[in-house]
Amino acid sequence: MENSHLTSTNPPSAPQATTSSLLPERGVVVGPILSASDIALWNDLISAAGNIVITCHRGPDGDALGSTLALCSWLRRHKPGSTVHVVAPNIFPDFLRWMPGATDILIYDKHEADVRPVVDAADLIIMCDHGELSRMWTLGDAVRSHECPRIMLDHHLDPEQGIAALTISHPELSSTCEVLLRVLLQLGSGLTHDEAVCIYTGMMTDTGAFTYASTRPEIYQLISLLLACGIDKDKIYRNVFFTYSPARMRFMGYMLYAKLDIMKKSHVAILTLTNAERRRLGILNGDTEGIVNMPLQIMGIKLSVFLREDTEQPCIRVSLRSVDDFPCNTMAADYFSGGGHKNAAGGEIWGTMDEAVALVRKAVQKYLPLLKGQE
Ligand code: 5GP
Ligand code: MN
Repeated sequence: MENSHLTSTNPPSAPQATTSSLLPERGVVVGPILSASDIALWNDLISAAGNIVITCHRGPDGDALGSTLALCSWLRRHKPGSTVHVVAPNIFPDFLRWMPGATDILIYDKHEADVRPVVDAADLIIMCDHGELSRMWTLGDAVRSHECPRIMLDHHLDPEQGIAALTISHPELSSTCEVLLRVLLQLGSGLTHDEAVCIYTGMMTDTGAFTYASTRPEIYQLISLLLACGIDKDKIYRNVFFTYSPARMRFMGYMLYAKLDIMKKSHVAILTLTNAERRRLGILNGDTEGIVNMPLQIMGIKLSVFLREDTEQPCIRVSLRSVDDFPCNTMAADYFSGGGHKNAAGGEIWGTMDEAVALVRKAVQKYLPLLKGQE
């Protein structure tokens, strides 16, 4: 049901392409991101599809869920009679369960026997918030081996080539939700309230509530459009960030008090978490979200590293966060088989926690000139 339209000029069932500035009637000027041929291809792919599967990366975050759920709702409205499913590689954090449509998401690794046929029946797969099939783990294998056209909607650097018929990849944008919003606006489409909620959630979570990756003025033009759809941005903030369990609050206290290793001369902080500690503290997967940002609040810290034992694989997950120009993505690619953005990246280390810490220290030594050079 259509609650609130960003524009009243085009009926939702017949999205019309435009490559001019968007919504001048609201005084909003947001440049186009799709070429005319992109739009034609998008329309062709969508109209030819009867079974659409939308995927996201493993360890879904607010942007992954926001973009997949908003797109799912939009497609269901625009393609009545078709089936559209969101398939996530694994479980998403509890603090995102309130998101409209989240409980309908199919979880691949938990229910592979049931969900694999859904993937195999797809005649279009839309991959959101990841530029590489490998970021979906086993779901990525299923998608790779299934022959059907794919669309990539993403904002990560260096998208994998040759895996999508249409690649809409914009690393300069804050989030995949922003990419999606701009695509929908360019198609002249309206948004429901719930779609606006999902999109705002992804933009907010991928920018740390607009504290990083959010300096382009257009972002705030887009937010004003979402607010006009009736979203309650303060409630969304509380839904995402004010949902700690007592165990999670104590976990943060424990990590900051007992586990924070500060390499003062290098301007680096390292946090580590083992699965034994997880069990002892009674924390869930999503409870570790955000802890990596906290050491950046210490004066002088330029890089924060969070190492945690994976709960499903014998490896150590790495999260990197930085301020200013320190390139987390390069360090992640050089040392941790990963990637990401300049100020937020991740990867993995196949080894013990001690080996992981040693590797981080080695990487820090290599990057010392950059870490010291930013004083
Ligand atoms: P997080 O630290 O929240 O797990 O990840 C932060 C960002 O780093 C993600 O948004 C993603 O861009 C990137 N990232 C995390 N893990 C990986 C990985 O294993 N490979 C790549 N290429 N990027 C990753
Ligand atoms: Mn994202």
